[in-house]
Amino acid sequence: MSTVSTLQLTTAVERIPGVGSRRAGALRRLGLRCVADLLRHLPQRYERELGERTVEEAATQGADAILTIAGEVETIRMSRGRKARFEATVRDETGTTLLTWFNAPWLRGKLHPGQRIRATGKMKRYGEWLQMVNPRWEVIEEDPVEVADGDAPRDGRLRPIYPASEDVSSAVIELAVGAILEPALRLVDDHLTDAYRAERELPPLADAYRKIHRPADEAEAAGARRRLAFDELLMLQLGVMLKRAHRRETQRAPALVANASIDEHIAGRLPFTLTASQREVIDEIAGDLTTPVPMNRLLQGDVGAGKTAVALYAMLLAVASEHQAALMAPTELLAEQHFATIDGMLAGSSVRLGLLTGSMRAAQRRELLERLETGEIDILMGTHALLTETVRFRRLALVVVDEQHRFGVHQRATLRAKGGGEETQTVEIPHTLVMTATPIPRTLSLTVFGDLDVSTIRHLPPGRRPAVTRHLSEAQAVRAYEFARSRIARGEQAFIVVPVIDESETGLKDITTHLKHLETGPFAGCRLAALHGRLDRDERDEIMGRFRDGQLDALVATTVIEVGVDVPRATVMIIEHADRFGLAQLHQLRGRIGRGARRGVCVLVADPTTEDAEARIAAIAGTTDGFEIAERDLEIRGPGELFGAKQSGMAPFFAARLPRDTELLRLARRDAIEWVARSPRLSDEPDALLRKRLLKAHGQWLGLGDVG
Ligand code: ADP
Ligand code: MG
Repeated sequence: MSTVSTLQLTTAVERIPGVGSRRAGALRRLGLRCVADLLRHLPQRYERELGERTVEEAATQGADAILTIAGEVETIRMSRGRKARFEATVRDETGTTLLTWFNAPWLRGKLHPGQRIRATGKMKRYGEWLQMVNPRWEVIEEDPVEVADGDAPRDGRLRPIYPASEDVSSAVIELAVGAILEPALRLVDDHLTDAYRAERELPPLADAYRKIHRPADEAEAAGARRRLAFDELLMLQLGVMLKRAHRRETQRAPALVANASIDEHIAGRLPFTLTASQREVIDEIAGDLTTPVPMNRLLQGDVGAGKTAVALYAMLLAVASEHQAALMAPTELLAEQHFATIDGMLAGSSVRLGLLTGSMRAAQRRELLERLETGEIDILMGTHALLTETVRFRRLALVVVDEQHRFGVHQRATLRAKGGGEETQTVEIPHTLVMTATPIPRTLSLTVFGDLDVSTIRHLPPGRRPAVTRHLSEAQAVRAYEFARSRIARGEQAFIVVPVIDESETGLKDITTHLKHLETGPFAGCRLAALHGRLDRDERDEIMGRFRDGQLDALVATTVIEVGVDVPRATVMIIEHADRFGLAQLHQLRGRIGRGARRGVCVLVADPTTEDAEARIAAIAGTTDGFEIAERDLEIRGPGELFGAKQSGMAPFFAARLPRDTELLRLARRDAIEWVARSPRLSDEPDALLRKRLLKAHGQWLGLGDVG
């Protein structure tokens, strides 16, 4: 056993007084390996312990209070069955109350009528009855020296409840934290100066840790949490801003020209007048493209907002300045669709387009790549195949990535390195524009994607209206099918979306069985096909092509259709088991219909069984605003899960919670921007500790190793 005086922040949990090897193992499995880990393991909430109360007082405290009752056991009762329950009534001078233990057969023979006991636990209400559930208890010895809960004042103490596991309870973690807290706090240095903290009304770091583990009251706990949350947000923001400053120092992109005559020329090419929303984002993009600082911009706009025209405009700016542009789509089909659309718009112009596909013959491909390298192609379209080594541009100025709603951070990195250029201090790279229809919630766009500039198309082009969305129960599904049939009879088309491919024990409709059922039943006589991710790419493209050309009436599909495909005659979408899909996904899916003249109708078929699922169905039926949906999604799922922030290796937040801490985030962001402007490498002496901790938390995933 180690003594307190030799304790370090890196001391292993095994060596903490009172933690044996079994408990240490359990702590390690929770990710708590050393003293510092314990310090950072924050309570998820607190329970107020009221100390000893009479039965009468306990009754007035109501449910959820934690208190101690001392009295004599009057009766005991053991119920049989799988969930053996043990009950005892305890009487003091003011009344009688019931204690209940679930799954506690070992209590038999331990507790007898006539014993005086002290029981501590939470009061719960069952109907009219208040009772204490699963209390801790002890027998009061014959000669009761009054030891009534010395450390629990009458107004109660806040007891921390820690994230725990089956092997190690919150109470054990509390003990372990208690054993190290004071000596460990003496070792905690603050990376923020007194002056800075005073200005922000933040407590010292050691204070914050003390008060979050052992708060005197709620206000102390909240103040401590605010400091720790601010630290996390500040570190992240500083990391992102350092990265940005570093990029600006070491990377250059071609500065393009934009002026009124070029604008007139480009706008004149488009078959419609750009909306004010599109104009606004084009101005932002053009502002970036005309400087040598590489653009790193996200263009978000709901499905059908008209992002393609904006991308085309930007690419034509590159062409007007005698540079090349590339447009990358997530699927071959989408790349082809872009090619067809853009080829149509540019008919008769001198802009030379190329489409690189996987199905090209070798000779064709070679010829295309040659023309690309000699600069005879102005705009190249394709899938991720554009990222391969053999694809070399002559003067690539802009890369547009379409429908990037699962952020492949890594992929973007490869792409950005593709500029070529001379061996100089600074690297020449193209500008990047990433487009998405899944908006990043505002709060999140300030964090992980803080080094992206964001442009938003806020309104749909005239005449485009979001799909009407209705919810039907499983039993009413047949009405949806009838409706779809009536639309098909008028020459329109339908999607029927299912959540799974295979038959499974879950009892969900799988795609093959469901296709058969629909073909022979509700859709007899219609032309149906199934589309899913297990088909190989050629098969998928072939089926999708037939659907687009009107040779199929309905597609029974998984979410493979989620992205981008434009089929103007598809006006109906039926989503089976809609409660199984995420919010953003549902919104994305219904964006696939009503892309022509007629308004789309989306029917959600679902019998939601949880409150959460019900809320999701209500949200999606109730709003067509992608931004609102994204914020709701963030609330429900938490930021880690969205956009693969976890996979990116970003240090997790222990204290900060978004969107709850948005205000704190704003403050941290503002400070970080100022800080990095003042000290682009955080190399000033007072920043040394901050810098060290920052690099530890975010250096790797942000690639900040070379910032020093
Ligand atoms: P998304 O943002 O989902 O990629 P698209 O670029 O495919 O949307 O545009 C959706 C539809 O709206 C297309 O058919 C496009 O031709 C049309 N569109 C885009 N901009 C305008 C506009 N300013 N006026 C009228 N129609 C437009
Ligand atoms: Mg699009």
